[in-house]
Amino acid sequence: MSGLKFHLVPFGCQMNIYDSQKMEAILAKSGYRRTGCPEEADLILLNTCSIREKAENKVFSMLGRLGELKKNGAEPVIALGGCMATLRKDEIFRRAPMVDVVFGPDNMENLPRLIEEFTATGARRIDAEFADHTVWDGMDAGQTAVCAHVGIAKGCDNHCSYCIVPRTRGPEISRPPESILAEARLLAEKGCAEVTLIGQNVNSYGKGGSADFPALLKMVEKVPGIRRIRFMTSHPKDLGEPLVQTMADSKKICPAVHMPVQAGSNRVLSAMNRGYTAEEYLEKVARLRKAVPGVSVSSDLMVGFPGETEEDFQETLNVMKTALFDGIFLFNHSPRPGTKSADLPGLVTREVSQSRFYRANALHKAIMAEKLSSMVGTEQEVLCEGPAVGGGDGVQGRTRGNHLVFFDGGPELVGQTLKITITRVLGYNLGGKTTV
Ligand code: SF4
Repeated sequence: MSGLKFHLVPFGCQMNIYDSQKMEAILAKSGYRRTGCPEEADLILLNTCSIREKAENKVFSMLGRLGELKKNGAEPVIALGGCMATLRKDEIFRRAPMVDVVFGPDNMENLPRLIEEFTATGARRIDAEFADHTVWDGMDAGQTAVCAHVGIAKGCDNHCSYCIVPRTRGPEISRPPESILAEARLLAEKGCAEVTLIGQNVNSYGKGGSADFPALLKMVEKVPGIRRIRFMTSHPKDLGEPLVQTMADSKKICPAVHMPVQAGSNRVLSAMNRGYTAEEYLEKVARLRKAVPGVSVSSDLMVGFPGETEEDFQETLNVMKTALFDGIFLFNHSPRPGTKSADLPGLVTREVSQSRFYRANALHKAIMAEKLSSMVGTEQEVLCEGPAVGGGDGVQGRTRGNHLVFFDGGPELVGQTLKITITRVLGYNLGGKTTV
């Protein structure tokens, strides 16, 4: 198999980025290496997301373009993985005749076998059922970066009314602490300095198990070589005092929490089945900010949920003005077949939803401009991750509060924790120079 090349196109959330890293490791073990060029690939892999209709549409239009490669004489195997594979397994082959292999998030390990079977027989292969597992033992991600993701839980028990995840990823299961620690140790041995513990609902980790999330954080803190710990995504209803206190007491846990509020109206929050009120959410933010100095809080926000009125939307803006988020992911509501919100009355038109999107975005931009400007002149501890991505010279890294900073330097800085003086604001990011 040596000499084979694969091209991977990831879509969607942090969990998908993590899954993409796993796919890369699985394929590397089978002799594939990654290429950025689809034209020279033997295998094209799409790791899909079903959370929003837009992401699914993008996949189908990309498949249309990739299908042209086959017509032009090249014969790459086209494989489709991720949540769309589980959710749409019965229709993908019909809608996308260029797809050869379909595999779900629970079936990644079978990918090399599926490709081999397809190559040998020419018969399209599908393996997208949930694995009926109660234990998730994980595996070596094969990551060699300074910053790496470590999956600690998957699936979700929450059933927010707009969300497809419980259908595509199944009920929440937590990975045993020993398995997580083994992966963290392995990563540290390969030069990883920062781990991000990820799960759909990371802070409800360990239900019924031997360790809850604060206990797990304390164990990961002890892994030699790991200098920083991050985690995402946190559900507001599961952010309790023990976690706040663990963050406040720790030098390794970065002061940054991604905790989606989604909406500011209690009526909308209740229709979303989120399990908290706007007031309760803001109390948690205030508690965090008091206990963990300099903590940055980021959020997901949704506009255009069915029945959302202008008054409801104003309450979302009010929450933004009070919480002063350090980052947001902003979305229009996207009705997903099979979710409760897809059938709710009070459809908000695309135009109204989009206008709310722009207004929320403008507010966030103004909040961020002020926040980031106030950081100019301060000294920040930055872990250098690698070359500046996006065409800039120099290198990039993150502050403990998760702000991306670009600064001068070369590969010799990668992996070092540096004191950086912030000199300028670059959009939603920062520029700086090494403090002498
Ligand atoms: S917490 Fe809600 S939005 Fe997040 S994955 Fe679970 S059901 Fe989906």
